[in-house]
Amino acid sequence: MTTIEIEPGRLFIGGQWREAADGARTEVVDPSRGTVVTTVAEAGAVDVDAAVRAAREAFDGGQWSGMSGRERGRILHRVAQLIRENAEELGALESLDVGKPISLCQAVDVTNAANDYEHYAALAYSLDGATRDTPMNALAYTRREPLGVVAAITPFNFPLILAGSKIAPALAAGNTVVHKPADETPLSALYMAGLLREAGVPDGVVNVVTGSGPVAGEALLRHSGVDKIAFTGSTAIGRHAASIAGENLKPVTMELGGNAAHIVFEDADLEKAVGAVIKGFVFNTGQFCMGGPRLLVSRPVYSTMLGILAEAVPGVPLGDPRQPETVVGPMAGERHLKKVEEYVELARKEGGRIVCGGERLDLDGGYYYKPTVIADLPNDSRVVQEEVFGPVLTVQPFDSEEEAIQLANSTPYGLASGVQTTNLARAHRIADRLQAGIVWINDWAMLDPAVPFGGVKDSGFGREYGPEALTAYTRVKSVVVSLD
Ligand code: NAP
Repeated sequence: MTTIEIEPGRLFIGGQWREAADGARTEVVDPSRGTVVTTVAEAGAVDVDAAVRAAREAFDGGQWSGMSGRERGRILHRVAQLIRENAEELGALESLDVGKPISLCQAVDVTNAANDYEHYAALAYSLDGATRDTPMNALAYTRREPLGVVAAITPFNFPLILAGSKIAPALAAGNTVVHKPADETPLSALYMAGLLREAGVPDGVVNVVTGSGPVAGEALLRHSGVDKIAFTGSTAIGRHAASIAGENLKPVTMELGGNAAHIVFEDADLEKAVGAVIKGFVFNTGQFCMGGPRLLVSRPVYSTMLGILAEAVPGVPLGDPRQPETVVGPMAGERHLKKVEEYVELARKEGGRIVCGGERLDLDGGYYYKPTVIADLPNDSRVVQEEVFGPVLTVQPFDSEEEAIQLANSTPYGLASGVQTTNLARAHRIADRLQAGIVWINDWAMLDPAVPFGGVKDSGFGREYGPEALTAYTRVKSVVVSLD
C-alpha cells in the first residue's frame, strides 16, 4: 500500500495544506459511538476566495486545461489505481466518518470512486468536436472546451462517490475544481486530495475547503471566479443554490432529494423482489437519495409481502460498522436520527401501523435506528410524501397498473423508481410512464459510471455519469474558416 500523508485537519489550497485564515476548526464525530474523532479546519470566505483564486490561476496557467486529453486520462487512471491500492484505509476512513459498514465502504464506495476515475480517464481520450456541412464556402467545426473553475458541493451520505462523480468528469474535460464536502463527513475528501496530488494532478487543479454550508458553501456559490456549480444535496438547499447560479448566470447541475416508489406486481418473483425491496430501503441506513422508501404492492400479494417483510427485516444485521457481518450501521449524525424518530412518530399519528422496527437500537452511544416497515398510511401522509432519509419503508396496496403509476408519480420527487414483474411488456410500459431519471426493473440501485443518473421534478436537473456528465463540464465553440 502506498503511504499517503493524511492531513484531515487542514484545507488543501493550491497544493498546500493550510489552516483556515481565522484558525477556526470543527469537530468530526464517529456516529457509531457519538464521540469526536478529530477536528478539521473550518473555511471562511477568505479561504474560499484563496481556493477559487488557486483554481483560477491553475486553469489560466494551462498546466491542466492545456494538457492533451490523453495525458489527463493517464493521470486519472493513476488516481483510480491509487484509490484501489489504498482501499483499506480509504474504506476505514469513510466508515468512521459516515458510520456505514466498513465492508460496504470498500466494496461499494471505494470501488465506485475508482470506477468513476477509470471511466472518465477513458473518456478524456476522446473528447472531441465535429465538422459541420454548410452551404458556406467554409470549413465549419466545433470544439469542446472546459468551462473553467468548477464549484463542487457534496452531501454527507456518499462523500467519496459523489465527489468522484463530479471531480472525475470535471478533470477529464480540463477544468479545475474547488470541492466543499459536507461539514459532517469531510475526511475522504481530504484523503483524496493527497491521492490526486500523488497521481500527478498539478497544484491548484483540485482544492478542498472543509467548512459549513452557510459560510464556506455560500461563499463558493457566490464567488464570481466560479464558472460552473455542481451541487448534490437537499432540494431546499439546491433551490437556493440554483437561484444564486441564476442571478450570476452560471451553469449548474442539480442532484437533489428523492423519494422513489418500488412497485411489486403479483406476477413478480417475490423472493427476489423482497431482496431488492430491503436493499432499497436499508442500504446506507436509508440515507440514500435513490433509495426506495415507498413500496407499492399489488393487492393479491399485499399481505404476503407484509408477512415476508415482518419476518425478514428484523433479521438484517444492524450494528457496529467495523464488524464484517454488519449490513446496516448507525445514522451519520444525531440530527438524522432525531429526524427519523420524528417521522416515525408522525406516521403513528397519521394512522400508520408499525410492522417492525419503530425504535432506536441502544448500542455504544451510537445513532442507531432499527429498520422500520409501516403499513396503512394514506398516500397524502407526510411520511409517504416527504423524504424521510432513514431506514423506513412505507407499504401501500394498489389495484391496477394505472393506480400504481399514479401513486408512484404522486410525490414532488423524481429521482429513481423500480418495477418488479416477470411480464416484459408491462415492465417497459410502466418504465415509460414513471416520472424518474432512472428506472430499475427486477432489482434496485444498479449503477455504473456508464449509465447517466439524475432527477426530474424536485429531484433536480442535469445528469451525472455517462458521456452526458462529461459534456456538462464543457462548452462548445464553433470555428468557421473561410475557404475563399
Ligand atoms: P444538504 O443539507 O442540502 O447539504 C448538501 C451540501 O450543501 C453540503 O455540503 C452542505 O454543507 C452544503 N450547503 C448547505 N447550505 C449551503 C448554502 N447556503 N450554500 C452552499 N452550500 C450549502 O444535504 P445533505 O443533508 O448533506 O444530504 C442529503 C440530501 O442530499 C438528501 O436530500 C438527498 O436526497 C440528497 N442527495 C441527492 C443525491 C442525488 O444524486 N440526487 C445524492 C446524494 C444525496 P453542510 O454539510 O456544511 O451543511
